Amino acid sequence: MALQIYNSLTRKKERFEPLVPGRIGIYVCGMTVYDYCHLGHARVLVVFDMVVRVLRAWGYSVDYVRNITDIDDKIIARATEIGEPFEHLTERFINAMHQDEEILNVAPPDQEPRATGHIAEIIELTRKLEQRGLAYQGENGDVYFRVRKFEAYGQLSGRSLDDLLAGARVEKDEAKDDPLDFVLWKRAKPGEPMWNSPWGEGRPGWHIECSAMSTRCLGEHFDIHGGGMDLRFPHHENEIAQTEGATGCRFVNTWMHNGFVQLHEEKMSKSLGNFFTIRDLVGQDDDPARAGEVIRFLVLLSHYRSPLNFSAEVMDQARAGLERLYSALFRARERSDTTPADPEADNGLGEAFDKALEDDFNTPSAIAVLFDLVRGINRALEAGAESEAKTLANQLEHLGGRLGLLYQEPATILGIGGVREGSTEDADTTPSDKDALIETLIETRRRARQEKDFQLSDEVRAQLEEMGVTLEDRPDGSTSWRRR
Ligand code: ZN
Repeated sequence: MALQIYNSLTRKKERFEPLVPGRIGIYVCGMTVYDYCHLGHARVLVVFDMVVRVLRAWGYSVDYVRNITDIDDKIIARATEIGEPFEHLTERFINAMHQDEEILNVAPPDQEPRATGHIAEIIELTRKLEQRGLAYQGENGDVYFRVRKFEAYGQLSGRSLDDLLAGARVEKDEAKDDPLDFVLWKRAKPGEPMWNSPWGEGRPGWHIECSAMSTRCLGEHFDIHGGGMDLRFPHHENEIAQTEGATGCRFVNTWMHNGFVQLHEEKMSKSLGNFFTIRDLVGQDDDPARAGEVIRFLVLLSHYRSPLNFSAEVMDQARAGLERLYSALFRARERSDTTPADPEADNGLGEAFDKALEDDFNTPSAIAVLFDLVRGINRALEAGAESEAKTLANQLEHLGGRLGLLYQEPATILGIGGVREGSTEDADTTPSDKDALIETLIETRRRARQEKDFQLSDEVRAQLEEMGVTLEDRPDGSTSWRRR
């Protein structure tokens, strides 16, 4: 097996080798808990849950850490605004997040550290940085990281200090020596949550908690650090500076970042007002468990690095696609419970599925293999080869399970009370689910080209070729496609 992962640090796909053979440590930046999880959060949760499931299926022993930011400016502001003690507020939204995870079939991480549980380590790390001349206390009592003293600063985001300086802003209550510096420890204002420290009563800045918790949970040097694309700068850049500044050794081997969720082609964020919570979405469905799996499927239909365009239409397409998979399972099994399945299917599809995922976790390609199985099941049923259909159904369920899909009762998902006539109307070609996948891939490629990520755009084209789809780029920038 040759797992390749795109490393945001080197900006290329690399052969992945764990530091300790067979074992992988992975840290993902989790939620800041002051509100309900939205689709952007759902994407981080599902993408890294998929990564961990796939690595485990390949036999790795994975230690998966995802933190909770339970103290920060936004939390304090919200708690003050609604007059709730901040610990109550965060507890409430942590519980809500755990419910959302369950509905998305996201397994709990192995460790879920909270910032407020690691204040001692955060202080210790800040002290170490101070001793090494990388941190100083400003006149206002805040402690800052001295960016110019860390030579490799900018390596992850690929920005020079001059670029950064042009964009740097200093708020009027700050006391930095240099606009590039960022805060490690904040002096507490009256009435705010606070902890004792060598610099007086205060609380941690945001970035430092992840350096403290990741190294505490996984050691000073570990395999994979992940998170949303928006965290690459400044959060992850600062994490590298803090950790490597304090330890003097390499921090993380592979940085993985998932793309944005876009709504009407704009990055989803609260400030834009286009904000879908997971509970909004599942609450609109008469079967919330099914809606949760549809969201999961929708997330995995896009490659994790590409932008994900969300709309009601895309949600409908994902639902139709998922139902197609469940319908094949249902039809393969409904007719005769007594027909045994053939032994292991020897059709190469298991290998094709693994190969897709070994290629930087290419889930759209892996899902295309699931649809190949659906067509195989339909053909087998049409030919009266019921035991073959069952074998393929077992394979479909098994491979789907690797992605955390197809874990519910088919009849429930399909809303079937009685037995439906076995239909093979989609025996070979392809109602809308496959088309939806193709459209998703074409959109992925278009955006990759727009962002000049030609490696990704070539991969998507190759994948479409494999699916028998030929693309034609028109002069006006649009793309048409046809099946060979
Ligand atoms: Zn973080």
